[in-house]
Order: sequence, then structure tokens, then C-alpha cells
Amino acid sequence: MSAVGIRELVNLGRVVARGELLRYGRSGQGFTARFEDRLARLIGVRHVLTVNSGSNALIAAMAAAGIGPGDEVLVPAYTWVATALAPLAVGAVPVLVNIDESLTIDPRDIERHITPFTRAIVPVHMQNVVCDMDAIMAIARRHRLLVIEDACQAVGVQYKGRRVGGIGDLGAFSFNQHKNITAGEGGAVLTNNDRYFERARMFHDPGAFIRGHEPTSEPLFSGLNCRVSELTGAVLDAQLGRLEPMLRTLQARYPGVAALFAGQPHCRPSPHHSPEHAVALSVLFDDPEEARRFARTRGVGRLIDTGRHVFSNWEAVLCKRSFHERMNPHRWAHRDISYDIDAYRATLDILARTCRVSLGAQYPSPVMLLHKQTLRAALAQPGPERHD
Ligand SMILES: *Cc1c(COP(=O)(O)O)cnc(C)c1O
Repeated sequence: MSAVGIRELVNLGRVVARGELLRYGRSGQGFTARFEDRLARLIGVRHVLTVNSGSNALIAAMAAAGIGPGDEVLVPAYTWVATALAPLAVGAVPVLVNIDESLTIDPRDIERHITPFTRAIVPVHMQNVVCDMDAIMAIARRHRLLVIEDACQAVGVQYKGRRVGGIGDLGAFSFNQHKNITAGEGGAVLTNNDRYFERARMFHDPGAFIRGHEPTSEPLFSGLNCRVSELTGAVLDAQLGRLEPMLRTLQARYPGVAALFAGQPHCRPSPHHSPEHAVALSVLFDDPEEARRFARTRGVGRLIDTGRHVFSNWEAVLCKRSFHERMNPHRWAHRDISYDIDAYRATLDILARTCRVSLGAQYPSPVMLLHKQTLRAALAQPGPERHD
């Protein structure tokens, strides 16, 4: 998470002084448009549309791509629940897919869940860890599926030199309080596809037709209001300047912290799909009890204990409950979708044995040394009694 400070305050002051808090104001180009241009250049993508949350970015991306009733969307069983809710918001149903030891969607399990009704894969770059995008894009091409990257937790992160969120057909970012850059709330849709961009823009702004955008051949349809104000744009524009320095710090610290776990008898760093760009570290233990014990260390957390990110806690999804029964997408699905916990034991097993280890984005160097000492000491403690 980036710091928030004087730069954000200065930008906000400018917006307040102008008195124009709408992003589509009289004066034309404001902070939000400037942020979108800069973010598009950084990610290497043609279009960026800022919206008011990562959840709505996913929903707008799905609406833009024409996903709807009868469609099945593949989402990992380890992610923030919003990933699984997004297909439901457009009338489609989520189909859960196991993760592998990399903590991201398992390409082999994707293949097992493809049916004639599958429309899209949503790889989630969890906690700044990137998915196996080469494998996922190859599967998508083979089966003619859309790829909508949920990069809400990985803004700016690289996969083999490309930035995530700009690799699939569409991407989604979140700028809520806990993400790499933040405006408290916020999100963005990313795409290289002009038509998807025009549709996302239409979906996110009921007034899109009076904004003076370039003429489009896309017929007007009804959407929602997911616009951001210039206050959000002003904060994000300032935040963007903090992103690269933070990611560089994380990238520089990764090898040193990962090395503490290499060669350990009962644990190892989780496999990573783009190790030279790694900016987040997880450690995989052989035994869930050892992971639980290690998680008592400061700056460490066991993944299965982050309840809300684990599919078994997504009650509304698992119970197939909608705000109105006649609007329940499961009524329109071509088959009964099963969310049987037993089919996802592999995910639960990995989460129970994996700990996330902080790389101390905000730690000054002396605190970082202490952090490493603490980790080393925790690893040196004798493990639980083994009775095997
Ligand atoms: C944060 C997050 C979202 C949703 O973002 P909001 O801005 O909170 O709506 C979606 N997917 C993942 C993986 C997230 O971490």
C-alpha cells in the first residue's frame, strides 16, 4: 500500500479551488483523464477507464465483453469474493477452479471445468503474485474464451516484463484502501479493444451520450453509474507517482527474504510465474501445523486464516442467493453448478500450508534487518513433535 500525503493534498486543493468536482466537467481534461493517460502508458494498454470500485471494474468489463445469462465464468477458489460476484451481477454464473501452489488459478484445473457454456476465464493476480498467463492465454485461444484479468491486488506488477491487467482481453484494477495505490475506493477497466472500451464507458455512465465523446457505432444501452469524481482522480494522479518506487523496493527486497526460506527442511518459497519480477513472497510448508506456528511471527499470516478470501466462506455464492429470486442467474444457467467443498480440497490444503511474508514496503532499512532476524529466529524454533 502506498503512503498518502502532501501530494494528494495539493492535487485535492487544486480541484477544490477550481470548484469542479465532476470528472466530466466544463473544463474538459482534469485529473481523472490525466491519471487514465498516465496509467495506460505505464501498463502498456490502449484504454483505461476509472470507475468507483474494483468490483464495478470487473462488472463493467464483463458487461463490455457481452457476458450474460447462460454464460459460465471460471474464477479461482482463492480470491476476494467480488471476483465470484461479478459474473452474477451480469446474469452469468461463476464456476470455481482450484489454485495451485503458486496461489493462482491452476491451468490444468481450468481445462477440467470448461464446458460448451464457458465464456471467460478470470485469472486473479492475488496479493501481487502473478498468474501463469502464457498457459492461460493459450487455453483461452484454444477454446475461444475471453480472459478478464482481475489485477485488483496487483496494480503495476509485471509478468515476464509485461504489466498485468493489460495482457488479457480486459483487466480490472482496484484502488481501495488496501491496494497498491489507493483513493479509499476506486477501480479501473483496462483494454486494448476500442469496442469494449466504448461499451464499458457506456455501462459506467448513464450520461455517456451527452459527454461529447468521439462518435461510436455502438448502440446505446442501459448501464449503471460507476463514475468517479475529480476528488478520486486527483488522489489517484498523485498516488501513481508512488507506485513504481514502492514496487522497486519490494522487488529489491524479495531475493533477500526469499533466501531465508530456501534450503529449509520443512518449507520453501511458493513457486512464482515470473520470479525476476517478484514483489511478494509466500512460503509453503509441508505441514499445516508448522504454517500455523510460523504465522504467529510478526509480518506473517497464514492464508487460510484470511477467511474472506477463501471460497468456503462465500455464503451468498455457495447458497446461490440473489437479491430477487427471478433475477437469480442460476435460473438461466444451462446446468446445475456445483460448489461442493470436496471438489476444492486442493485449494484448502494449499492455503492451510501457506504463509504470506511481508517484504516491508514501508520499512526503513534498519526495521527490515530486524524483520529478517525475527523471521530467521522463528524458523530456527523446533517444530511440533512429529509422530510419523
Ligand atoms: C479488492 C479486490 C476486488 C474488488 O475491489 P473493490 O475496489 O474493493 O471493489 C476484486 N478482486 C480482488 C482480487 C480484490 O482484491
